[in-house]
Amino acid sequence: MAEKDEQVTWYWKDLPGVMAGISHKNAGWMNADEVDLARGATGKANRDKFFARLGFDPEKTVAITGLRHTTNVAAVDFTNAGQVIYGADGVDGLSTDQPGLILASTMADCLPIYFYDPVAKVVAIAHAGWRGVLSNMIEAMVKHLQNNYPKTQLNNLQALVGPGLRPCHFEVLSDVEELFKKRYSNYTDYREGKIYIDLPAIVKQQLSQVGLVGDNIQDTGECNYDLTDKYFSFRRDHPPKPQSMIAFVALRNE
Ligand SMILES: [Zn+2]
Repeated sequence: MAEKDEQVTWYWKDLPGVMAGISHKNAGWMNADEVDLARGATGKANRDKFFARLGFDPEKTVAITGLRHTTNVAAVDFTNAGQVIYGADGVDGLSTDQPGLILASTMADCLPIYFYDPVAKVVAIAHAGWRGVLSNMIEAMVKHLQNNYPKTQLNNLQALVGPGLRPCHFEVLSDVEELFKKRYSNYTDYREGKIYIDLPAIVKQQLSQVGLVGDNIQDTGECNYDLTDKYFSFRRDHPPKPQSMIAFVALRNE
């Protein structure tokens, strides 16, 4: 259980050279995507405060993914700081080799997936809901990293699955079930006439299939729906305006 005034969970604390985490509900809405903003729910003031509290200037150090449910990844640098990145056809993943540049993505049920290669000194973040998982954002991300940062090695690459809807709460209707049946039928569960899919398990299988080493595939195991005091959940709360956490990763300045 999070302390009442705690605003962030940190990950990979045992790994040198990287910082990664996610904001808590009590840090406020972090919404950044223009679709969310059009619904009157800007999270800019909360984001600015949150990152300032961590010691970062959001205009100068934070780049944020759009939320378009694509598998497109953009390599970014400090010229992209202060921006939400959409690209020409949508962007749902960011990568960088620039220490001190924070890559971020907002979440309200979808999964953040964090990447870190400590030898190539590269970090990345991906946003994936069921569409991103089904179209294999993981494979797209790993290929992107290998193409853009030649020192990236599958042996070294670390990945972490963040908080999001788990099979306890990711219920789908038969249309989505059909889409998953072909390749991921083992990840469907049926309870009391309802259909559930285990997206994090599929992500971990994709990470393994693309060549990451077992020990380097980690999972927070957190269901944001279950952790009512800690995280927002769109499915749980059905808020009139979007309410998102922000997941972030950066190479540490050394
Ligand atoms: Zn749950």
